[in-house]
Order: sequence, then C-alpha cells, then structure tokens
Amino acid sequence: MWRTFGHDKAKRILQAGIAEGRIAHAYMLSGPIGVGKMTLALDFSRALNCVSLEKPCDTCNQCSRIDRDVHTDIHVIRVSEGVKDGRRRVLIGIEQIRDVFRELSLKPYEGKFRVVIVDGAEHFSGEAANSLLKTLEEPPDQVVIVLLTADHNIVLPTVVSRCQLLEMRQLNESVIIEVLQTEHGVQLDKANEIARLSQGMVGWALRATQEPGLIEDLMNRIDVVAEVVGGDIEHRFSYANDLAVTFTRDRWNVRRELDLWLAWWRDVLLVKYELLKLGVNSTRADFLKRISEFLTIEQIIGVLGSIEDTKRVLDRNANPRLALDNLMLSLPKLS
Ligand SMILES: [Zn+2]
Repeated sequence: MWRTFGHDKAKRILQAGIAEGRIAHAYMLSGPIGVGKMTLALDFSRALNCVSLEKPCDTCNQCSRIDRDVHTDIHVIRVSEGVKDGRRRVLIGIEQIRDVFRELSLKPYEGKFRVVIVDGAEHFSGEAANSLLKTLEEPPDQVVIVLLTADHNIVLPTVVSRCQLLEMRQLNESVIIEVLQTEHGVQLDKANEIARLSQGMVGWALRATQEPGLIEDLMNRIDVVAEVVGGDIEHRFSYANDLAVTFTRDRWNVRRELDLWLAWWRDVLLVKYELLKLGVNSTRADFLKRISEFLTIEQIIGVLGSIEDTKRVLDRNANPRLALDNLMLSLPKLS
C-alpha cells in the first residue's frame, strides 16, 4: 500500500520505474512543506526493497523494518543549525552526510537498495553540495538518492539536472476532505474546516486532526496578518523587520508566512466576488468583509501581485528587509 494520498503522476512514475527495472540514481521531490514528500520518499524506499509481488506490501520484513525506522540501508538526513556565509542558519553540513556517503560504495546490508533521503536539498552547505555532486556524477549501483525540496528552482542547477524531478503540488481540498473522512473518521464539518486551512498540505491536515494546537496557531498567525493589514505604517515596518530577522535564520518560515498572506488576500478577493462562505468566527469575517468593501478588485489583485513579487525576489537572495519593507509600502492605506 502506498500511503501517499494524491500525487498519482509521481507515484505512477516511481512504480513504473520499479516494475520495469528503470530506477534513476537520484530523484528530486519538489513541493511545499507538508505536501507529502517524506511520505512518498518512504513509500518508494519500501517499494524498492519490498520482497512481495505487490510493492510495498507493508507486511514483509523489509517493509516493516523501514516502517519501524530500523532498516540499516535507509538513511534520512535532515537540516540542522550551522554556519553558512558567515551567518547562523539551518543547513545540511558535510559532517551530516560524510559517513552516509562513504558507505554508499558498499553493497546494501540487508535490502536490495540503499536509499538516502535528504530533506531540504536547498540547504546544502558548499562542501556538502560538492560531495553530493561527486556522488551524483559517479553513482554507485544499488543506491538511490531522494532529495526533497520545497522549491527546486533554488537548488543548485547542477544538482537538479542530475536528478529525475517529480513536482508535487498542493492537493485539492476535496482529496483532503476525503482522506480525513475515510481514513481518519473526521466529521464532515471538521474535515471541511481543516481542509480549507490546510491549503492543500495533506501532512499538515493530518497533523491538525491530532494536534488541535496547530489550528489555533494558524488562526493566531492569521490574526497577526490581519492586524498588520489594518495597522499603520509603523506597525507594518516593525512586522517587516521581525520577518526579515527570521529570514536570516529560517527562510522557509518566512515563505510560509507569505503563503499565509497570499491565502488571506485571496479570501478578501473571494469575499469581494461573494464566493467565500464566511466561517463562524464573526470578528474575522467582519474584518475580511470590511476590507473587501473598502478596496477595489484591482487593488486586491495588486496586493496579491506584490506578495508574489516579494516571494520571488527573496528567493533570488534580495535584501530581506528591503523586500519586506517594499511589500508593506505597497499595501493600500486603510485608515
Ligand atoms: Zn514488503
């Protein structure tokens, strides 16, 4: 059973590769955080090593050892804190991959394939990227490298070009509602709410069913966005400054925040077109309605464009303070 929901095209490609014995040395799964990249990478690891006819079977020793995270041929590498370009930030350093990569020339210990899953391919330090490139240039047999990234456009092109790229987009709300209802027994009302808030991130949606705090956190962050939108220019600049400081440590957090901004302004637009069924929270609904009444459709679309532009220039390593200040300046005055 593949545990990955949706992403049928990516699954088909991986399945066909295994069935036909055409397995690439390296894959890159590219898609937003929470979209299901790690689940797919682990599904693939099980399918590669599974000994049953129907792969992955979930019951054979290989599948079950990978499931319990004790399989010696499956390595998962995640970002850690380190120093890059003189600044502290999250990265994948050489010391994290050195030992794993050294072992790759050895035959798999217990399975058919050694699989190295690296979560955060955009965070390789220079040294680690060099080591990865060397491995990708002369890939050992029976080794599959699966790189996960939130956006392949900001991974070194020399790395991307050596991988089979599989893009994973946000799932439709209806797919997430179905998963929540059928697989997790969530009531329809709740499933609707979580699916809407998840913005297509099935991983987030599943976690939200277990941890109600996640929804509350998200609502609080949405409130912060609303306060900044309704606030004066000083309030907006102070927010931009906080976000710029966060950016130097953890750019993905800022990206997620900007996605939240996009979602919030899309809601304003939907309210304008009377396409959004406003939820039960009347304070939030009232505010959205007031904003949408106050602004023209062109202004709202203008803000959405500015947020997209900001995301783009930040990806190109623009000065974060400048980029975020510009975004604040582009917001319409509401007083
Ligand atoms: Zn199996």
